[in-house]
Amino acid sequence: MAKGKINVTADNIFPVIKKFLYSDHEIFLRELVSNAVDATEKLKHLSSMGEVKGDLGDTKIEISIDKDAKTLTIKDRGIGMTSEEVEKYITDIAFSGAEEFMEKYKEEMDGKDLIGHFGLGFYSAFMVASEVEIFTKSYKDDSQAVRWECDGSPEYELENTDKKEDRGTEIVLHIDEDSAEFLEESRITELLNKYSKFVPVEIKFGEKEETVKEGEGDDAVETKVSVDNIINNTNPAWTKSPSELTDEDYNSFYKELYPANFEDPLFHIHLNVDYPFNLTGILYFPKISKSMDMQKDKIQLYQNQVFITDNVENIVPDFLNMLKGLIDSPDIPLNVSRSYLQADAAVKRISGHITKKIADKLNSMFKDDREDFQKKWADIKIIIEYGMLSEPKFYDRAKKFALYPTVNDEFFTFDEFVEKVKDAQTDKDGNTVVLYASNKDAQHSYIERAKDKGYEVMLLDSPIISHLIQKIEGDNANVKFARVDADSIDKLINKDEPVVSKLSKEEEDVLKPIIETGVNDTKYTVQMEALDSKELPFLVTVPEFIRRMNEQAQTGGGMMGMGQMPEMYNLIVNTNNEVVSEILNEESEDRKKDLVQQAFDLAKLQQNLLHGEELTKFIKRSVELIK
Ligand code: ADP
Repeated sequence: MAKGKINVTADNIFPVIKKFLYSDHEIFLRELVSNAVDATEKLKHLSSMGEVKGDLGDTKIEISIDKDAKTLTIKDRGIGMTSEEVEKYITDIAFSGAEEFMEKYKEEMDGKDLIGHFGLGFYSAFMVASEVEIFTKSYKDDSQAVRWECDGSPEYELENTDKKEDRGTEIVLHIDEDSAEFLEESRITELLNKYSKFVPVEIKFGEKEETVKEGEGDDAVETKVSVDNIINNTNPAWTKSPSELTDEDYNSFYKELYPANFEDPLFHIHLNVDYPFNLTGILYFPKISKSMDMQKDKIQLYQNQVFITDNVENIVPDFLNMLKGLIDSPDIPLNVSRSYLQADAAVKRISGHITKKIADKLNSMFKDDREDFQKKWADIKIIIEYGMLSEPKFYDRAKKFALYPTVNDEFFTFDEFVEKVKDAQTDKDGNTVVLYASNKDAQHSYIERAKDKGYEVMLLDSPIISHLIQKIEGDNANVKFARVDADSIDKLINKDEPVVSKLSKEEEDVLKPIIETGVNDTKYTVQMEALDSKELPFLVTVPEFIRRMNEQAQTGGGMMGMGQMPEMYNLIVNTNNEVVSEILNEESEDRKKDLVQQAFDLAKLQQNLLHGEELTKFIKRSVELIK
């Protein structure tokens, strides 16, 4: 037996590894399974090149637990190692890798910021094991099997053994007392499902019962047999070519990825790049449901079919956070901090590429089947609008396929819409005014008023729409957006048409203070305006600018970091309405007051601003008036 000493500076590096990686102990299994997969793939490769002769036999990787011995074993039938290779790869190289990792870790200080811990490899076993044994036999002819053992101190043992007859490697972890969870089947199943569900070599963990039918018809006998419990799908959809897959295949892979999700996705995008970087994957646009938990079922990052993380911040652009699916790229540096990742050129290219692919797909959907695209719009618009706001390149592409529905459920692109309304909706200053509503019910009467004039009204109801409106206005000098309730319709699209008021200037001057006193609320600015005589006596409007700023402050960003502005409304008094004349001419002070109050309440009711005590009073007064 040979005894050796691992050449390290620190006396015992493993307690330090344990401490640093406290929350991530579980990744040891990912590392060891990945090593087993690599060793098996290498053997298959050598065999395909004719360098290994004969049948490779069963190449399944087997994971097993021995509760009595308190061991967890990972066994592969890959290339194995000779004694020299163990010395070289395990003792020298692997260890220096672990040491290098430690150095990096110390510099980063904040361990939580590291997105993956690749590179630690084999030695991550010491996060959960007090002692590790390796039994290994190289695929090379007449190889001598060896046993290596180390208890986490720099001393190790290496000896020949007769216990290992098979080609391949068996890693036996003597699980530490405080890591006893890794002797539980459920925990190991969970980890294999999390990290190794799609690795390219079959993984067997335990056995399961299966019913087999023998014989035909009435003579058929069902018997239960034990079969290997295979954890993984070695050939997941994203590794195949899109031409091999149907929509159904994509949908069933979606369920494989998120077993708890029962909804089919809306559509998918298959990513497949090999130059200048390597990236594969499938992204899905989900149906947006009210109960959707944004935290759940996130986009996953894989490397060579091994799960790394579902925190893809900086790798996938923010606006695609709501998408599902996965990306697989060996070109994303992992043992780095997030701030480094953000600055990394390769990562930036990947993020840019994903954005471009999404835009391509949406554009071709729009072009190929516009009707179907319109049907999906309600589910995808928030993602597209967010993308247009946050990624200038995406904005330039999306301009051509972003849709703007009208209150009549017709869909236009922005350019189409402007073209359609230009003639009717251009004001005296040459600005084309895009009228919109955010809620068909709440703004019903305002929408009707616009329709009566022959105007088209868009329905823009996304929470971030005011940010987007702001951006579109910035890009289109002669276009202004105005919500239908922002002013009286003739002011919204001011064509400078002469209006006659029934009241003289003097009469208006008498009336204004009467109404102001009646209203008695500083939130309302009283304005006299000659509207159509059929319009209501009073009209409450919400100035576009203030409302938009408040909306932006609520959804983040906002203009110049201004906070919420106080509520402010205009109270437009229609000097052409009969009731207004009546207010002016009414003799009885009480009735005058009632008329102002009633007209004011009606205007508020129309804006959904009449609540509580005010509403109760209004109802009482209304009953008195109809008596
Ligand atoms: P990495 O896998 O990143 O190279 P590891 O520390 O995990 O680093 O492993 C070091 C080396 O030990 C591997 O590169 C490989 O040569 C060898 N090795 C580890 N596990 C196995 C195994 N199951 N079969 C054969 N060789 C292995």
